[in-house]
Amino acid sequence: MDHASHAFGLAVPSGIISTTGVAGLTLGGGHGYLSRKYGLTIDNLLEVDMVLADGRLVTASEDENADLFWAVRGGGGNFGVVTSFLFQAHPVDTIYGGPIIWPIDQADEILRWYRDFIVDAPEDLYGWFGFHRVPTGSPLPEKLHGHHGCAITWCYTGPMDKAEEVFKPIRELGTPVLDMAGPMPFPALQNMFDQLYYPPRLQWYWKADFVKELGDEAIELHKEYGSNLPTELCTMHLYPINGAVHEVGRNDTAFSFRDVTWSRVIVGVSEDPADAERVSQWAKAYWQALHPLSEGGGYVNFMMEEGQDRIQATYRDNYQRLVDVKTKYDPNNLFHVNQNIKPTG
Ligand SMILES: Cc1cc2nc3c(=O)[nH]c(=O)nc-3n(C[C@H](O)[C@H](O)[C@H](O)COP(=O)(O)OP(=O)(O)OC[C@H]3O[C@@H](n4cnc5c(N)ncnc54)[C@H](O)[C@@H]3O)c2cc1C
Repeated sequence: MDHASHAFGLAVPSGIISTTGVAGLTLGGGHGYLSRKYGLTIDNLLEVDMVLADGRLVTASEDENADLFWAVRGGGGNFGVVTSFLFQAHPVDTIYGGPIIWPIDQADEILRWYRDFIVDAPEDLYGWFGFHRVPTGSPLPEKLHGHHGCAITWCYTGPMDKAEEVFKPIRELGTPVLDMAGPMPFPALQNMFDQLYYPPRLQWYWKADFVKELGDEAIELHKEYGSNLPTELCTMHLYPINGAVHEVGRNDTAFSFRDVTWSRVIVGVSEDPADAERVSQWAKAYWQALHPLSEGGGYVNFMMEEGQDRIQATYRDNYQRLVDVKTKYDPNNLFHVNQNIKPTG
């Protein structure tokens, strides 16, 4: 989608790795580099074609099967198989972006600055924060390989002649070990981390939360866990949920948690199946420490099988309406391999 739309100087908001499937990403909500400016992927969805549980092919939009259209914008694959998506694209061509990486001992300063900055930053500017270890063998300088660090990966879509000025205060922060931010075609940023996280053989364990405030206690805990990533691919990301995402009401689509600041994901990842236990234990412990300081629900696209309580906590007052739509369109729960909304009756 990035490739096809870029040829016309256009883009649709999606995730930060270009190989992520468009269907699952969209149906769960979809956040990424363009979300502060243009909203979630579902905020740019105009219409879907779907095959329902009874075999009917229907279209859903604001004007047709509006209840279904409301539900598929955040309610996941619970309601049918989507065979076509119609999106609103936006003029996005060359952007100014990329990661700026600081050593881990500066994480405290960077995180404190970031938590205040991103709340009121111009909507042209998106930046997600991450803890990481630079992977051995990556194209990044060898002296960094294996070392812990923290990074903010930026995407500025405002006027290019203003970009250096926008990045001036950012570049005065701490002493970065690497600054890769600069002008590039939007798909180049979308592709930047594909090779790192694409290999299908990777072991993954996710734990998610929505976060409104990042207090000093939370920062201390982040520093502790973020400085001890068990493998080079383990990470924690804070993705902004603000700017244009806040312009849509929490009941206007099934995606409820719009009144927060971040979607947080803690990801235990390893190439070695023998690490599965180690990375999942780390992710669970990190999440358990931070969860009480979060808003209660998590992004459905970052959740494992975590039970009905967690699903209800994620949809809050949208849950009953989702149950009603599910009961109408899939009363026998044919579509249940998902964060399942159970029909009644
Ligand atoms: C490396 C990586 C990076 C990511 N980064 C982001 C990010 O930046 N932003 C973000 O928002 N998310 C991100 N995600 C999460 C992503 O949104 C989910 O993994 C999503 O489920 C991927 O979509 P998929 O089509 O591959 O879904 P699948 O894994 O195939 O399926 C997920 C769910 O969607 C259902 N589904 C899939 N296709 C359809 C369809 N056509 N009709 C109906 N139901 C369907 C499935 O039944 C299942 O329940 C990332 C994931 C990965 C692995």
